[in-house]
Amino acid sequence: MNPTQIGPYEVLSKIGSGGMGSVYLGKHKDTGEELAIKVLPASMANEEGFVKRFNREIESMKKLSNPHIVKLHENGVDNGTYYYSMEYVEGETLTQLLRRERRLPWLEAINIGIQICHALKAAHDAGIIHRDLKPSNLLIASDGMVKLTDFGIAQVFAAERLTVTDGIVGTAEFMSPEQAEGKRASKQSDLYSLGAVLYAMVCGKPPFTAETMMAVLQKHRFGQFDSPRRVNPEIPSWFEEVIVQLLNKDPAKRLPDAYVVGRRLEQVRNKMEFYESSTEADNVSAGSATIAADDPDHHSVVGPGPATLMKDLVRHELESEGGYPFLNQILNSSWFLVAMLLLIVLGGFLWFHDWSPSPEQRIQLGEAIMAQPPGDDWLKARDEYFKPLVDIDGGKWNEQVVPYLSQIDQFVELDKLKRDIRKNRGKRGSETNLAADEPRRLLVWALNQKEAGDLVHAQKTVQAVKALLEGDPEQTRLYDLCQQLAREMQRDETAADEWLKSAVERANKLTADKKTSAARAIWESIIQLYGEDPAAAKYVEQAQQALNQKAKSHP
Ligand code: ADP
Ligand code: MG
Repeated sequence: MNPTQIGPYEVLSKIGSGGMGSVYLGKHKDTGEELAIKVLPASMANEEGFVKRFNREIESMKKLSNPHIVKLHENGVDNGTYYYSMEYVEGETLTQLLRRERRLPWLEAINIGIQICHALKAAHDAGIIHRDLKPSNLLIASDGMVKLTDFGIAQVFAAERLTVTDGIVGTAEFMSPEQAEGKRASKQSDLYSLGAVLYAMVCGKPPFTAETMMAVLQKHRFGQFDSPRRVNPEIPSWFEEVIVQLLNKDPAKRLPDAYVVGRRLEQVRNKMEFYESSTEADNVSAGSATIAADDPDHHSVVGPGPATLMKDLVRHELESEGGYPFLNQILNSSWFLVAMLLLIVLGGFLWFHDWSPSPEQRIQLGEAIMAQPPGDDWLKARDEYFKPLVDIDGGKWNEQVVPYLSQIDQFVELDKLKRDIRKNRGKRGSETNLAADEPRRLLVWALNQKEAGDLVHAQKTVQAVKALLEGDPEQTRLYDLCQQLAREMQRDETAADEWLKSAVERANKLTADKKTSAARAIWESIIQLYGEDPAAAKYVEQAQQALNQKAKSHP
């Protein structure tokens, strides 16, 4: 039954309850102010040292004043029941929001993350660690403002008898590995929890789940989570990098503090905005402004879908032949698209029923797949296109097909090595084959670095292993694997690189067209966004030179 009164508050209704008591909506008898009242379980008060800890924590929390932290009002004891009152936030918790939406668009998650960083920075600057950052402690007001609550409360319950194994602290899904191990929480522990919350927002599930709380805690300590982009490919890789860094098991390897995390999240937002607006600008300069405006796919982060791509390809072909406004209209009409779709479906139907691909078609289809980054499709290319060619007429096709087949073999082997490594992280082999195992161990290390988002060091490690293996006839296989790994890492970098290259080209063209201020905006953005990125050094230097030259010609 609900109490009717707690201290000076008249209880209006119960809001909820959690691991540490219940929360009521209360109205102050004298001032009429409506506040949320948290009542702690009566059994707690008998714990030794509880009252002292409770008062100490509450006093320090009262000092916190930040728009993203739920304001604490007063605390007291009524008939042996400990309570405190705090700002009542009308809205919902992040738990409720996620339960409804399952997952959030990455931009929304970034905006929420930045607000959490403001709250954490203010608290950490005041020497207060949250210790229990999780979706149910994140209140989202009706105007979208995010507020963090229950600061330091976990500490009140940190008596020895009330360890996490008793289930007192509640949700283990967002707890750092060091807390799971029973060590003291630090500011870095809050950052790990932030990483887990960001992960849950964009992936629709926390990084680690399991049947029991103990099992979840073990996973935080020793488990490997699915990479965010694997769960949700729409997440920008820059964002994934931040999440993965926050979820590092080693507190010292997470990002340094909440301020830096907030800045990194802002940068992701800015880079994506810049990236999207520049791809839009490309469309405008190609003379298809109306298309960019009415085609929502051009604003999407993932890039155009296959239908749009096809439409654009056909349109581009037509435009390069001198512009056919009439055809352009047709291409924009939905009837035309429906007709195209029907043709494609019909074509596919005939294909599967009456035709098997000719050898020439097989090689073309296979090559198209091989032009894509390695993945399970490669196996399809092997089994459906390349191997049948060897069977049909090996003498004729071997020369073309065998290099592809060995490339695919390498991919399969690398995949196996990676899986072995995951199962058997960095474990050393027996004494006898230690020497043979050393390069493998180093490769494991490189893969870990890559997964932690440290591409620069991962590449260096792989290059070093490659150099070690060079010329060793017993290790040619591993050498090939190194090469494959190096290529893979290159590809991760290429996406950013290609985009930078096109930005530079655009800026050069703008300069040639005497549109200097637009060009300068691009140069300056490159320096601002990539100034500290060693992989982008050559572009940054180019930008710097271009700006210097302009300064000289316009003294
Ligand atoms: P938990 O955080 O584990 O869910 P709590 O006892 O801290 O448990 O909170 C219970 C619920 O009360 C929360 O999930 C939230 O819905 C609600 N709540 C807590 N504090 C406030 C507040 N200041 N304003 C509005 N609702 C709140
Ligand atoms: Mg709470």
